Amino acid sequence: MISFYPGPSKVWDALPRYMQDAWQSGILSVNHRSPQFAALWQALVDQLHRKLDIPENYSILPASSATECWEIIAQSLLGSGGKSLHLYNGAFGEKWQEYTHKLTGATTKAPFLQDELPDLDALDSQAYALIALTHNETSNGTALPHGFMHNLRRQHLTPLIAADATSSMAGMDLPWAAADIWYASVQKGFGLPAGLAIMILSPKAVAAAADRGENKHYNSLGFILENARKQQTTHTPNVLALYLLMRSLQDRSTMAVVDQQIQERWQQWIVFWKQQECFKLLVEEQSLQSPTVLTLLGSPEDVSRIKADALAAGFYLGNGYGPWKNSTFRIANFPAHTDKEIEMLRQFLLQWLLR
Ligand SMILES: *Cc1c(COP(=O)(O)O)cnc(C)c1O
Repeated sequence: MISFYPGPSKVWDALPRYMQDAWQSGILSVNHRSPQFAALWQALVDQLHRKLDIPENYSILPASSATECWEIIAQSLLGSGGKSLHLYNGAFGEKWQEYTHKLTGATTKAPFLQDELPDLDALDSQAYALIALTHNETSNGTALPHGFMHNLRRQHLTPLIAADATSSMAGMDLPWAAADIWYASVQKGFGLPAGLAIMILSPKAVAAAADRGENKHYNSLGFILENARKQQTTHTPNVLALYLLMRSLQDRSTMAVVDQQIQERWQQWIVFWKQQECFKLLVEEQSLQSPTVLTLLGSPEDVSRIKADALAAGFYLGNGYGPWKNSTFRIANFPAHTDKEIEMLRQFLLQWLLR
C-alpha cells in the first residue's frame, strides 16, 4: 500500500536502512546529556540549516508535535492575557486559535475565505503580541503565497509572526525571514514516522522568550532554548526520531531541487484534474492552492467510491477534513513520493475516471 494521505504519509524508502544503522551505531542507548547525543543534535541542526536553507541566525529546537508547538507558543510567548490575532481559513488554523484561547483567554479570530487572502491594509496589528497563521492549511489544500507573507512582515512590524508549516516544511521553499516562529511535525513533508516536531525561531522570538522568562513547564520555551544551546533537550527525547531526521536530511537534495520537483508534479496534477469532470480542485485560484496537499471536490458518492476503490488497488488517499469531510479527498505531494508511485496512482485514477 502506498500512502498519499497528507499525514501521516509515506515514509522514505530508505527508512529500514536508517533504522538498522541507528541500532548498529549504538545511538539508541546513549544518554541525552552525553557528547554522542550532542554530536547527533549538532549534525541535525547543521543539516536543517543546510538542506532547508534556514537562516544561520534562526534557532532550531525540538518538540514532539505541532500541537505541542501551539501550546509552547501560547504558554511561553503569550501567557494569560497575551493577545494573539489568528488568521485562518481552515480547521488547523482554527484549532490553533482554540488551543491558544484556553491558555491565554485573549485570542482574536480573523477567519478568511479559502479563495481569498486577508486584507493586510485593513489589519490593525498594533495591539497584538503575536499574529498566528497556517502557512499550508492541510485541511483544505491552501497555501499562503510568499508575497503575502513578505507583505505581512513589512506592514506589521510589532507583533511576532508565527507560521504553522506542518505540511509545507521540507516540501517547499519557505520565506523564513517573513516569520519569527515556524514549526512542523515530521510525519508530513519530512516523510518520517510521527512523534517529532521542529521549531524554528528568529532572534526576535528568542529575545521575546527571554523577556517573558516563563519557566513553569517542562516545555517552557526558555528551558528548551537553554538546553538546545548546550546541544541537549529538556527531557529524554526520541533519539530514534532525531536520528532518522538527521539521516534523511543528509540524503536529501537541496531545497531548490526539491521545491522545483514538487512544483513540477503539482503542475502536472493541475493539468490532470482540469481534464476531469467528476472532481475539481476545491480552491480554484491557483496562487492560493497548496503544491503539497491537493484537495479534490466531488459528490460524496464519488468521493467515497474513489477512496474505497483506490484502497483496494493499493493507494491510500486522504479523507476530507472538517467541513469538507464528505465532499473532498486529498492527495499528498511530498518529497518521499517517487515519480513512479505518482505515475501508478495517475494510471489508476485515469482508469477509474474513464470507467
Ligand atoms: C497535521 C497538522 C497539525 C497537527 O500535527 P501533530 O503532529 O498531530 O500535532 C497541525 N497543523 C497542521 C497544519 C497540520 O497539517
